[in-house]
Amino acid sequence: MRKPIIVGNWKMNKNNAETKAFFEAVDGVAASENATYGIGCPFTDLRTALDGAKNLIVAAENCHFEDAGAFTGEVSVPMLQEMGVKYCIIGHSERRAMFGDTDETVNKKAKRLIDADITPILCIGETEAQYDAGETEKVIREQLTGSLANLCPKCVANIVIAYEPIWAIGTGKSATKEDAQNCCAIVRDQVRVMYGDEAADSVRVQYGGSVKPNNIVEYMACPDIDGALIGGASLKEDSFIEIIEKTK
Ligand code: PGA
Repeated sequence: MRKPIIVGNWKMNKNNAETKAFFEAVDGVAASENATYGIGCPFTDLRTALDGAKNLIVAAENCHFEDAGAFTGEVSVPMLQEMGVKYCIIGHSERRAMFGDTDETVNKKAKRLIDADITPILCIGETEAQYDAGETEKVIREQLTGSLANLCPKCVANIVIAYEPIWAIGTGKSATKEDAQNCCAIVRDQVRVMYGDEAADSVRVQYGGSVKPNNIVEYMACPDIDGALIGGASLKEDSFIEIIEKTK
């Protein structure tokens, strides 16, 4: 049985005071036996988030794959580990488009996180041009082939994969539930091809892209969708609470 996991992705938003207020308002509501709820926040908010989290899980939004060295501005996995961070978003499309993340570097990050017992939330998804050209399935399979290369089946069973069509991110143009289900099923099938049944049946696959309180329930009803990665609607206490209430 896969336990659903719904995670907010704050991106470059909120300071420490705002983080404290959010966790005070939301953490208590997030207590649930049936699902895991969490927030991905900027590095500078992690301490405050971890201190305010009894029920919510806390994710970093990126990491470097090297442990230390001349990488100005980067944060390593051991640094996150020392803070008590247990989840880390990697390969978000904004990082791939603007900061040079590739399937190869995402794969290195995934390996280093797994070694540190931090769960990667690994993002993939096609552009609008690829969607229009009918290349979605090919892109999903290629991204997973690269990003998940040379991991162990048991490790893959425990990660989270976020399928996020880029054209749906921050646009309000969410994928239909049929498209989202179909693509999350392709993600699971590619895990099956690479790592076998146990990994495929255990790995949790999230849909992301304009998930809101008014569409979360229909996504969560899809058999291959085990959760969501939520940007805009995770920034306001009220809308994230509504999402929790509707899915717990
Ligand atoms: P959105 O962002 O919910 O604002 O579309 C999703 C994401 O970038 O993870």
